[in-house]
Amino acid sequence: MSDAVTARRGLMLILTSPSGAGKSTLTRQLLQNETDIALSVSVTTRSRRKDEIDGVHYHFIDRPAFERMRDAGELLEWAEVHGNFYGTPRRAVEEALSAGKDVLFDIDVAGVRQLADMVREDMATVFLLPPSVTEQIARLKRRASDDDAAILKRLRTARDEIGHWADFDYILVNEDIARAFSELRAILHAERLKQRRRPKLEALIGELGRDLDKVLEAGRLPS
Ligand code: 5GP
Repeated sequence: MSDAVTARRGLMLILTSPSGAGKSTLTRQLLQNETDIALSVSVTTRSRRKDEIDGVHYHFIDRPAFERMRDAGELLEWAEVHGNFYGTPRRAVEEALSAGKDVLFDIDVAGVRQLADMVREDMATVFLLPPSVTEQIARLKRRASDDDAAILKRLRTARDEIGHWADFDYILVNEDIARAFSELRAILHAERLKQRRRPKLEALIGELGRDLDKVLEAGRLPS
């Protein structure tokens, strides 16, 4: 396909969920199976978990460094979650989008609200829900990185977050991970075809129009 047909501005695919809905698994699967989308790697002041890699899952930085970035306007959005700071570095996102690359964000409800005030047209927002609280707690316990008090804290945040479900473009209920994954992929593929993301199609539309005019003026089909 020619560039004019495929070229478009990159899409910001935003995946948000209360803790324990299965967002990390879905994010990992999407990044493994879709080559043309990259994760926006956030900065955070939270300490690194055993299975996390600096620069891959997060950029782990200390509080003064975070405040420096935030005050210099280097963060597109930021939020405090469970006593830690999280933020999206601006430059990497802007470079990817203007190069026509898609970016996946794993950010909280407060972050989504900040982005929506700035770049709503570039965004597609997805809210992922667990099928039940029993399943949600089972997932949080399986993760084994948090004690009961920490899990309760996450559930308290979840209680607030689910109230924002209606602000999102798409809602997925993660009853079955394979199904949720194929639904997320379908969202990505459909959003890529949105008319407003494809300004360069104007050239093709012009060409189709001129060629149709020629045929119609001739009044007969070309041999
Ligand atoms: P966790 O500590 O479990 O990795 O993340 C806690 C919460 O912070 C999750 O809801 C995650 O989506 C959110 N989060 C991670 N990075 C960012 C970010 O850059 N900005 C905002 N607003 N939230 C983030």
